[in-house]
Amino acid sequence: MSPAVDLGADRDLVAGLLREVPDFPQPGIRFWDLTTVLADARGLAATTRLLSAPVAEHPVDVVIGIEARGFLLGAAVAQALGLGLVPVRKQGKLPAVAAARSYDLEYGSATLELPAGVLAPGARALLVDDVLATGGTAAAACELVEECGATVTSLVVVLELPALDGRARLAGRPLHAVLDR
Ligand code: AMP
Repeated sequence: MSPAVDLGADRDLVAGLLREVPDFPQPGIRFWDLTTVLADARGLAATTRLLSAPVAEHPVDVVIGIEARGFLLGAAVAQALGLGLVPVRKQGKLPAVAAARSYDLEYGSATLELPAGVLAPGARALLVDDVLATGGTAAAACELVEECGATVTSLVVVLELPALDGRARLAGRPLHAVLDR
């Protein structure tokens, strides 16, 4: 990355574009909406730079995008870094599955799957998602990647919600959040 890039200014720009939607998808939940960031050309470029920056300290071979907003962000990051993108998908979407992992949600559970034949054993992976809340999604994605013989070099998210302590679920894996709320 060029030393002329001002990541502080990028962070301020993204913070100003991020939209908080009260009571979605249910009463009492504050939903952090990235569509207002992604729709802005400067916002998308700034977000991509910020999510890519940790790679300077933690070199990676592949980007993993977590369904669904992690696909949008992960594709931009992969393109910026000159890397490929592997999607971690919700159950039932992939025609060929290497591994699956179930995890608890606030109500019920969910299953994530990693596609077969696309993640090289020993690859160093950068995981990308929009929001880290309880950390269940990110932890399950890490476990899937590791089950396939790759290493999680770092996780990047646009927003961390520290009150939910999702970081504790990540068992010391390096997490970089652009913003917290
Ligand atoms: P969790 O597994 O609890 O960390 O939830 C993370 C996933 O749910 C992320 O992929 C987010 O897209 C989504 N999510 C959870 N809470 C919020 C929130 N308050 N605002 C926006 N997205 C959220």
